[in-house]
Amino acid sequence: MCGVFGIYNHPEASNLSYLGLHALQHRGQESAGVVSNQDGVLHGVRSMGQVGKIFTRDALAQLPGTIAIGHVRYATAGGSLVQNIQPLWAQYRGRSVALAHNGNLVNEEVLREELEGEGAIFSSLSDTEVILQLMARSRRAEFAEQLADALSRVQGAYSMVFTTEDQLIAVRDPHGFRPLVLGRLKGAPETYVVASETTAFDLIEAERVRDIEPGEILTIDSTGLHSAHLPKAPRRFCVFEHVYFARPDSVLDGLSVYEARIAMGQQLAREHAVEADVVIPVPDSGVVAAMGYAQASGIPFQMGLIRNHYVGRTFIEPSDSIRHFGVRLKLNAVPQVLSGKRVVVVDDSIVRGTTSRKIVKLLRQAGATEVHVRISSPPVNGPCHYGIDTPTRAELVASTHSIEQITKTIEADSLGYLSADGLLAAVRSEGEKNFCDACFTGDYPLRRDRGSGRKQLRLIQV
Ligand code: AMP
Repeated sequence: MCGVFGIYNHPEASNLSYLGLHALQHRGQESAGVVSNQDGVLHGVRSMGQVGKIFTRDALAQLPGTIAIGHVRYATAGGSLVQNIQPLWAQYRGRSVALAHNGNLVNEEVLREELEGEGAIFSSLSDTEVILQLMARSRRAEFAEQLADALSRVQGAYSMVFTTEDQLIAVRDPHGFRPLVLGRLKGAPETYVVASETTAFDLIEAERVRDIEPGEILTIDSTGLHSAHLPKAPRRFCVFEHVYFARPDSVLDGLSVYEARIAMGQQLAREHAVEADVVIPVPDSGVVAAMGYAQASGIPFQMGLIRNHYVGRTFIEPSDSIRHFGVRLKLNAVPQVLSGKRVVVVDDSIVRGTTSRKIVKLLRQAGATEVHVRISSPPVNGPCHYGIDTPTRAELVASTHSIEQITKTIEADSLGYLSADGLLAAVRSEGEKNFCDACFTGDYPLRRDRGSGRKQLRLIQV
């Protein structure tokens, strides 16, 4: 998962990009970068680490120009390597271009092998570089046409921003897997911004204009906004964005994440009612759904777990031993809320199951007499091919265990997951399914097309 940002026509384009990325930091903490464009000359700052640390005053001073794009990265395709930091940039036929990509391509391996066979040189392991290579091979004159040529070969999830010469270009794949929204600075209607989530707009005082449509290639230049469209495909916006990934203060494809999570919690309470004294969330991911559960069940809401905000997300830690430790580093129980109580604890999802087990234990140690785990999404039993970093199927507890077995594993008194239909109802998609819920249902809109499996050379740069 990653976040992207772009801005057109502002004298402080890189400063605003930095702020935009700061508001998108939850989408990726591994690395970040901004490329600014000053009269067709690109300037870039990219580094491992978080936005606030990378973009010092000095770093921002290296980024002049009125157009800029930015990226925060959460390693999915290509792994966690310095050369995969985005935005990527390249020069071909006398033109410079930079791009930032959120999503995963499903036929990247096949295309990469084909391009390497034709003599292409790759300098990263990121699937995004394949798009640049395909664009450089297009015989068409206009940048947007070269892009359309490249995208006709590519399959998968992509929400991208580009800058070239005097343009900002925003593109979303035909299924619209990942979010991408267009805005405009308040009081400066000629300054356009594009971002993964509307939270980025709030911080820089921009207003949402509309979503970039699935399959749209939107070019912004001195003559205005121009849209071209890729061939149509069924809409499949990622429902996990609403469940977990996006910030609750964002509006995604016209739907408030906050409202969606309240509805998920309410629906969960209807599907899995239980007699209890208190509803508590797993902060921060379960907070809004737990409020919905409390509202619908009439059970009081309390904060029975307090989060230490100065620890990274436990999920990203590389090894199991660190992750186990991480839950305790991150969450502490409040005995005054829990002691002697029958507790409903709400989280957004169970992936490997390690977090839930630790939490149940914490709650019992703090005096809870019963612990009822409620999850505001269905069991995750398949990996995501479209840009969310889920482990392999074998590591997903729900792919190898029944709900009864998971209940035992996590040592809960009861466990209830929101149903797949309940989730679609909460995101207002019961009639016509226009979400991707493959990680819950196995209904994959696009198959992953693996190459020959030849081992890629791994270069580690320190
Ligand atoms: P686990 O211990 O693997 O079951 O982790 C479950 C926790 O990870 C839940 O609290 C979720 O909020 C969180 N989570 C779910 N999916 C992801 C993801 N793709 N990246 C990071 N955290 C996640």
